[in-house]
Amino acid sequence: MKYLYLLGATGSIGVQTLDIVRSNPDKFMIISVSANRNLLKMIEIIEEFHPKFVSMGKESDVIELRKIYPNTEFGFGEQGLVDAATYGDLENDLVVNAIVGSAGLAPTIKAIEKGRNIALANKETLVIGGELINKLLKKHKVSLIPIDSEHSAIMQCINGEDKSAIKRIIITASGGSFRNLKRSELEKVTVQDALRHPNWSMGAKITIDSATMMNKGLEVIEAHYLFGVDYDKIETVLHKESVIHSLVEFHDTSIIAHLGNPDMRVPINYALNYPDRTRYSGNSLDLLQLGSLHFEALSYERFPLLKLAIEAGKSKGLNPTTLNAANEASVSLFLNGKITFTQIEEIVQECLDAFDNDLEITLDKIMKRDTEVKDYVLSKHS
Ligand code: NAD
Ligand code: MG
Repeated sequence: MKYLYLLGATGSIGVQTLDIVRSNPDKFMIISVSANRNLLKMIEIIEEFHPKFVSMGKESDVIELRKIYPNTEFGFGEQGLVDAATYGDLENDLVVNAIVGSAGLAPTIKAIEKGRNIALANKETLVIGGELINKLLKKHKVSLIPIDSEHSAIMQCINGEDKSAIKRIIITASGGSFRNLKRSELEKVTVQDALRHPNWSMGAKITIDSATMMNKGLEVIEAHYLFGVDYDKIETVLHKESVIHSLVEFHDTSIIAHLGNPDMRVPINYALNYPDRTRYSGNSLDLLQLGSLHFEALSYERFPLLKLAIEAGKSKGLNPTTLNAANEASVSLFLNGKITFTQIEEIVQECLDAFDNDLEITLDKIMKRDTEVKDYVLSKHS
């Protein structure tokens, strides 16, 4: 039995993680769960999975839940997340981090310090804290398995290979909701248009990040920290079918690719069961029906946030935090109808110009910068 601590249980990845748990009751048990605001969904989860510890964003929701579940332990806010990630002392434990945004960093760090393995969907953790995380993983001998489909693919491609034999990593991108639009056509797009992703059904923030291509930039940084590969060996390519989830070329020019239907339960299932490969009931990929696959260059002129993100990643220190916080705040303003789609990239650039870099990072400095940048964006643009 593997004991799971599921952060962000009510979201897109959280719910699909629960699907995998539901189909493998002999393999997994949910010990703790967290959610931000969705009280009704949390009640459904408690009824079905009986977690011992539950954390919510607000204390008022916990007061309601305590009345219904007097024997469950509760937490709330930032401390509640950390408590959900570090709850109890069972062996064979795994934290599944399916939170969106920078709020995922602190609980990941505290879980690693406790010696708990991590299955990570929350890419923002590695974007803003990759340097800290890698040191801690080594120190506490903890493994961190990616859930992001591209990184799960890369991990499977390099399994058993010598890292020094990697010539380049090629991360594929679906192109997001506006992949067929020119830059000049982006001025008038709406929130509803942006939320209509052609291949994947995901949370709102990552769907917008896919449309701006910030998501691919964040994934390049994520790959750099996960696989210890230099930025000049990480490439991106537009692949509209989302069937090849990523590729790795080795120094003998062999390329290994990972293929499958676009279904996040596949990488979730892999991360939960790692190092075992466990049966999953999804549909097989039908190559004949697919017929052909297509690849195009991803242009920095068309997707300036891809370039900005990679540059911020290369410059290290607090710059990735500034980039990420500016993006989180501006995406949220866009979703609330306060700014236009193209203002997202203007605001990210504005913040990178306004905030200095600092190469000596700590968790406190990252979270302080995160708050400063978000406050700056909200005060100037809402
Ligand atoms: P989502 O918005 O659907 O769910 C986010 C979850 O986090 C919810 O349970 C929510 O309650 C919780 N949450 C949100 N803000 C929080 C906060 N401030 N504090 C505590 N909890 C908070 O998001 P998602 O699409 O499931 O994405 C989760 C993460 O996985 C993101 O980092 C995303 O980039 C990554 N990811 C998602 C997908 C996908 O298919 N959805 C694919 C690859 C990677
Ligand atoms: Mg991805």
